[in-house]
Amino acid sequence: MDALLVGADELDAHILENVALVAPIGGKRKYPQKAMSLIRQFKSRGGVVLSSDERLAAVTHRQLFSLLVKRLPKLKDVFAQKIAEDDAQRKKDAEAAARFPAFMLEGGADEFRGMCCHTAYGPERVGNDPKWENWDENCRILKAAGFNALSVNVARGGIAFYESKVLPMSPEVKTKGDSIELIKKACEKHGMKFIAWKVCFYSRVGMKTPAFEKWIADGRGAISSNGERNGEWLCPVRPENRALEIEALVELAKRRPYAISLDYIRYHGTGWCFCDHCRKAFEEHSGEKVSNWPKDVLNNPKLNGKWEAFRRNNITSLVREVVRRVRAEAPGVKIRADVFRRPNGEALTVAQEWSLWCREGLMDIISPMDGTSTPGELAGLLKDQIPAAAGTTFMPTYYPSLSKRTSNADDFMDMIRVGRKAGVNGFCAFTFDGRLIEMLGLDEKRKAARAIKRVPVNLFR
Ligand SMILES: [Zn+2]
Repeated sequence: MDALLVGADELDAHILENVALVAPIGGKRKYPQKAMSLIRQFKSRGGVVLSSDERLAAVTHRQLFSLLVKRLPKLKDVFAQKIAEDDAQRKKDAEAAARFPAFMLEGGADEFRGMCCHTAYGPERVGNDPKWENWDENCRILKAAGFNALSVNVARGGIAFYESKVLPMSPEVKTKGDSIELIKKACEKHGMKFIAWKVCFYSRVGMKTPAFEKWIADGRGAISSNGERNGEWLCPVRPENRALEIEALVELAKRRPYAISLDYIRYHGTGWCFCDHCRKAFEEHSGEKVSNWPKDVLNNPKLNGKWEAFRRNNITSLVREVVRRVRAEAPGVKIRADVFRRPNGEALTVAQEWSLWCREGLMDIISPMDGTSTPGELAGLLKDQIPAAAGTTFMPTYYPSLSKRTSNADDFMDMIRVGRKAGVNGFCAFTFDGRLIEMLGLDEKRKAARAIKRVPVNLFR
């Protein structure tokens, strides 16, 4: 029997058959209904489940293992072994971290060496310690480690972490301040480029303001081909949703960051969006009357071709409008997009035709999310991406703190080497969290947390 760290959304009966303990990850989120009934069955068979509070309190691997020993004494020997391995890895990390800043600077002054941060006021999952909510100190540490750009997620589909006249504001703006002001000031002081990162259309649990909930209730959410309503995604075709994104991005650009970054600038997946408005808009756009909705646009090859083109055009036309407005109203602010990896593969299934955006000169910076790849895989991806990104600053995102493989500084440096050899303009590291802080020795003195990888990770196999 093993123990498993798993996201609440990822639980399934098969996973629970093979483990003795489940620990939630991803912060304070409740298990969805479906997972709750699985968990009840799991517990009735003697399975152990950690609560979110227990899990959050155990920040370092060592703390987590100690907790697990208490809850699962029969696996004591396995945990002792893991603690020993963890200690050895920590020693290796410290050696690699000492070499890291000099290695970073080998990329030269023109190389973008970015750090992503998923949360607006400081790195996430370092034990919820408020002393990390200090951008001045954080930028000082990142600069010393060789980073020269910082991409911070300051807005999502229905929430802004700064003073906004367009988006509903997080209550944190009142208590912690305007995040853009804090980040800009720190970046200017330490000579770093600030990229203001916005998630478009999407607000997940915990990021849903009352206004966003109301938009969903008013029918502005996306609908799947099965008629399933999505409570976290706005339909990207409805004019009011598009206007919201455009105005929010223009407002963001007017705050004069080095760049704005468009994330989630795409559809949710292949089976979206089939709301009434999308049907009407498709019929107008294609000149076709669809009698059997949505079957015809999915199964009739002629209509399906037009449907896919319509979807791609919906996203591309939005990008064009954002770029036109930003270049007119905030000239000089660069425009970046975070995009899917394969320009002719999965990017097209979500209607994200980013190679066209590059050809049209719409993108200043393009960042495919090259997560979880081995150096070999990364080299293969870059081969397709580099020609597609021609004319832009090409800055892929690597996932050192989340990827199973790249979970130490040496492996992260390998990925950077692969990119440099392929001729990229830089990279962005995902993400500024406890794991990455510790891996790169970003702050020994603060005894940074050893947060746990987010993907389902079997620690004890
Ligand atoms: Zn729709």
